[in-house]
Amino acid sequence: MTERNSREIRIGNVRIGGSNPIAVQSMTATKTQDIDATIRQVELLEEAGADVIRIAVDNPKDVAALGVVRQARPNANLVVDLQENYRLAEKVAPFVQKLRYNPGHLYHLEREKPVREKVRYLVEIARQHGCAMRIGVNAGSVDPEKLDKVSKDDSITPMVESALEHSVMLDDLGFDQYCVSLKDSDPNKVIDANVLFAERRPDIPLHLGVTEAGMPPDGVIKTRVAFEQLITRGIGDTIRVSLTLPFERKGEEIAVGRQILDDIHNGRFRSVPRFEHKGLNIISCPSCSRVENEAFIDLAQNVKEITRYAKEHDITIAVMGCRVNGPGETDDADLGMWCAPSFVNLKRGTQSLGHFTYDEILGRLRLELDKLIGEKRKVLV
Ligand code: SF4
Repeated sequence: MTERNSREIRIGNVRIGGSNPIAVQSMTATKTQDIDATIRQVELLEEAGADVIRIAVDNPKDVAALGVVRQARPNANLVVDLQENYRLAEKVAPFVQKLRYNPGHLYHLEREKPVREKVRYLVEIARQHGCAMRIGVNAGSVDPEKLDKVSKDDSITPMVESALEHSVMLDDLGFDQYCVSLKDSDPNKVIDANVLFAERRPDIPLHLGVTEAGMPPDGVIKTRVAFEQLITRGIGDTIRVSLTLPFERKGEEIAVGRQILDDIHNGRFRSVPRFEHKGLNIISCPSCSRVENEAFIDLAQNVKEITRYAKEHDITIAVMGCRVNGPGETDDADLGMWCAPSFVNLKRGTQSLGHFTYDEILGRLRLELDKLIGEKRKVLV
């Protein structure tokens, strides 16, 4: 085990970085405006021992709901996920201990305004309210300018460059209460991106996570591969396990995270250095306030069931809960689905195959999967 060497930051009554224990966090999976369900999520995660709990907001109604959740769970260390509407920061900061923004999403609002000014605004808000920040870079929504500079096969350099650039922006503003995350659904890319970033900026605390890891046990295995490789190298100050689970079982993300940390600290390594993409690979998101239909969780589980017959084939199927991240996050999959309120969009690679009702989609998926398997067989003959 290499010792960690990052600086300390404070998130409410939790400190991460330095020699502090690695904090375990998660996120509410329900629509934020479903106040009772969101309070229940926070309660479940607190009971499971979450150090920090993230809630996404996208509009003023989400902000109002967050205020009610804060009143109901006054002791939780809450993080707000700003998603695309960064201007909501001033409204939500009074309720939370940390703001998370995605550099790739700062482009959507006020396109004419320089990103540096938007970051300055976020830092001012964080300072006024004593909030920490996270620069959260995701493979599926990287700053487009960074993508233009490298070949299509290189998804790691744009993520690392974007995180480094935003870190310098925060440094230039004299703000050091921030951490960084670099997430991908591929554990190997999570390892590579975080190792590269940590080499350049060992001072910055890192939030680790394999995004859209999917359902247990596969999602746990992918997460374990990345965490074992990174934490033993002294990389990682807080972790989030992202699993597709029924809402009442969300606390399992915390239990799995603590188990992995405990195993690492006691030298019980259960995975291999690199994740092997052999056989059918199903990736699915953990759901969040943007989930378009709660039937998404059942859909992901049903996809897993009906595709078992294809488990020997090297095919990736992605199932995502919303239209915002769904299209981008499914681009690299052989077959991708993303949910709308009353239908599910189906893609093959980047090509749309149309949309289908929740009753129709599994049958159509099966047809497309059979077609794909047939085509792969022909290539082998
Ligand atoms: S794909 Fe959409 S619903 Fe799923 S976690 Fe990402 S933003 Fe939330």
